[in-house]
Amino acid sequence: MSAPRTTTGNARPGDEQSATAADSTSPLIETPERQALRRAVGDLGRRYGSAYYLDKARQGLPADELWAEAGKAGYLGVNLPAEYGGGGGGITDLAIVLEELGTAGCPLLLLIVSPAICGTVIARYGTEQQKQQWLPGLADGTRRMAFGITEPDAGSNSHRISTVARRDGDDWLLTGRKVFVSGIDHADAVLFVGRTEDARTGKLKPALFVVPRDTPGFEYRPIPMELVAPEKQFQVFLDDVRLPADALVGDENAGLLQLFAGLNPERIMTAAFSLGLARQALAKAVDYARSRTVWDTPIGAHQGLAHPLAVCAIEIELARLMTQKAGHLYDMGDDLAAGEAANMAKYAAGEAAARTVDQAVQTLGGNGLTQEYGLGALLTATRVGRVAPVSREMILNYVAQHTLGLPRSY
Ligand SMILES: Cc1cc2nc3c(=O)[nH]c(=O)nc-3n(C[C@H](O)[C@H](O)[C@H](O)COP(=O)(O)OP(=O)(O)OC[C@H]3O[C@@H](n4cnc5c(N)ncnc54)[C@H](O)[C@@H]3O)c2cc1C
Repeated sequence: MSAPRTTTGNARPGDEQSATAADSTSPLIETPERQALRRAVGDLGRRYGSAYYLDKARQGLPADELWAEAGKAGYLGVNLPAEYGGGGGGITDLAIVLEELGTAGCPLLLLIVSPAICGTVIARYGTEQQKQQWLPGLADGTRRMAFGITEPDAGSNSHRISTVARRDGDDWLLTGRKVFVSGIDHADAVLFVGRTEDARTGKLKPALFVVPRDTPGFEYRPIPMELVAPEKQFQVFLDDVRLPADALVGDENAGLLQLFAGLNPERIMTAAFSLGLARQALAKAVDYARSRTVWDTPIGAHQGLAHPLAVCAIEIELARLMTQKAGHLYDMGDDLAAGEAANMAKYAAGEAAARTVDQAVQTLGGNGLTQEYGLGALLTATRVGRVAPVSREMILNYVAQHTLGLPRSY
């Protein structure tokens, strides 16, 4: 007698019936539409590949051709509302786009920022005019927006940010400093997190402002980074930057809530960014280990190399599942549950990526550090997923306090 089949227990690749049953019941198994999106984006990414991406990065140029083509195909705005030119999908779909581009060798960092954070915040909290002004361009990639929250004296402690917006008649005057803001040079505007003063209590509360790149008083300088990526990071000086009243996105009194609307997508997308790097590195390592022979068998036959690569494959798959869960919760509108899941997914994917790239470099021996194989550049790239947008340690703090109920030390 054969064992009973369940949607999760006995389904095998190629088992059409089980797959169909699972599709309709479980968010753990991607729908045929999402599988098709993965394939289509992967095909596009492979037409460019890591040679294109690294070449652009080393020349200090943006990956504009790929960005434009992905925008035209509807991939960059797949999460944005259809009525504003988007695909009407969710963050789960945009995470698929970034993961597949990264797997193909083209991890476009600005996807995390432009359509995921800025697009989401404007779609959820912007005025009708802000939506019309920004969303169609963010969706088709013809306009880009960067996002600035990190400050030199606040770092991980975003309660300490001191960029302040003061009212001046109908206008705002924004003053402060930011660091590590990605991609300003390719962006039309930056969505900055500042603070406004509560008229009643005098307390500072977070608020979001759109600042066009050419606004007087807004200066930015590149930070020399050891990253091989088309996007640069910048330090920013805001000196009494005069903004019209409608530069404020959303309600002045609901800043924190609105901020979190963008930060969960940011974490889910950073998980997808890390997963793309991890899968790219694992594929290169496996490919190499299958054919490189220095004794009698390919090096992939030695368990000293095969087992660590197998562990990487398992860790990547686990992190992918967690990322899917986080995306699913977010897209269902459960911001609170999505917060925990997004943190866990970002952590798991960041760790999987750092370990996988390390093992991949080791697998290629000397070739792991040549430009030809494109793995050395991933060593620094994978550190991004451990540090940004929230560090590994701050996620562990979050889980310790919120999931486990432990007291905090800071
Ligand atoms: C490539 C890249 C791109 C980025 N892009 C952007 C962007 O577009 N926009 C933007 O606003 N920011 C961006 N950032 C900034 C990023 O979000 C910050 O670097 C990150 O939040 C950490 O802040 P920090 O660098 O000031 O580190 P710090 O806060 O100074 O932390 C330093 C170390 O101390 C640890 N630490 C701090 N507090 C605690 C604690 N309580 N318990 C345990 N450990 C602790 C941290 O985990 C970390 O290991 C980017 C950063 C990088 C590297």
